[in-house]
Amino acid sequence: MKKTGLLASMLAALCISTAPSAQSQELYWATSGFFGPFNIQGLIPTFPQAKDITIPVSMWILKHPKGLVVFDTGNNVAISDGMDNCKKYWAAGNCDFLKPSQKRSDVIDAQLQKLGFKVDDVKVVISSHSHLDHAGNIGMFPKAIHIMQKKELYQGWWPEKFQGREPNGSFVLNDMNAARGYNFFEIEGDYDLFGDGSVKIISTPGHTLGHQSLKIKLPQTGTVILTQDAIWMQENADGYVAGLNYSVKDWTDSANKLKMMRDIEGAKLLFAHDAPQFDKMGNRWHK
Ligand SMILES: [Zn+2]
Repeated sequence: MKKTGLLASMLAALCISTAPSAQSQELYWATSGFFGPFNIQGLIPTFPQAKDITIPVSMWILKHPKGLVVFDTGNNVAISDGMDNCKKYWAAGNCDFLKPSQKRSDVIDAQLQKLGFKVDDVKVVISSHSHLDHAGNIGMFPKAIHIMQKKELYQGWWPEKFQGREPNGSFVLNDMNAARGYNFFEIEGDYDLFGDGSVKIISTPGHTLGHQSLKIKLPQTGTVILTQDAIWMQENADGYVAGLNYSVKDWTDSANKLKMMRDIEGAKLLFAHDAPQFDKMGNRWHK
C-alpha cells in the first residue's frame, strides 16, 4: 500500500471511530399505564368543549454509545394494580381524578427488563420535573447520576403552597425522599449531556419552577423534542394553555420556545400526555 493510501485508510478509521455518538442512538417510548378517562377541561381549562380523554404517562429510554439514559420514571410502583393500592400511596383525590391504570408490568424497572436492561445499567436519570407522574420512581436508581434543575429540587422538596402539597397536590414527598441521598447533578439552564450535541437538556420552566425538556438528534427520525409537561398534548400546542402552572407567562414562553425549534429547525415535538401520538409511536424504538 502506498503511503497516501495508508494515510487515507487511517483517516477513514479515525472518522468511523469518532462518528457513532449521534449516529447510533436509539430512543424507546414507554408509558407508565394511562390516566383517564376524564374531561380534558379538568387539565386544560381553556379548552372550549368538554371531551373525554385517556392519556399516556410518557417515559423515555435512550441508548447512547456513552451510556443508557432514562428520561422520567413515571408513577410510583406502589400505585400499581388497582385503586386500593393507589389510595394507600397517593391522595385519594388524585386517584379518583386521574384514574391511573398502571400495572406492575408498566413500571420503569419492568419496561427496562422487557428491553434487556436492569435498573443498575442506567447511567443517567433525567427528571423533567418533580410531579408524581414524572419522578415517581427515582428511588429505583441508586447508582445513576440524577439530573434536575436546581430550582426544581427545591420545589420538589418544598412546593409552593398554591401548587399543592400533600395530601392534595401533585408533589409526593415520599418519591423525592427515596432519592434524597443520591448523586444529583443540579443544573441551571440548558446542558449538552454527552458533549457531542446529540442530547440536549432544554430549560422549559412554567409548568413547575424548574421544568426541563430533552432534545435528541436521531440518525433516521431527525431531531425530536421530548416536551414532557412543557406541552402536555396537541391541544396545548394549538394554543390552549394548560392548567396547574407555576407561571402562565413562563409556561407560554417555554411552549413558544419549543414551537420555534419545531418551525426553525424542523424538530418533531413529542408530548408527554398525547394519546393519538402515543398510539402511533409508543411502545417501540425510534432510530
Ligand atoms: Zn405530567
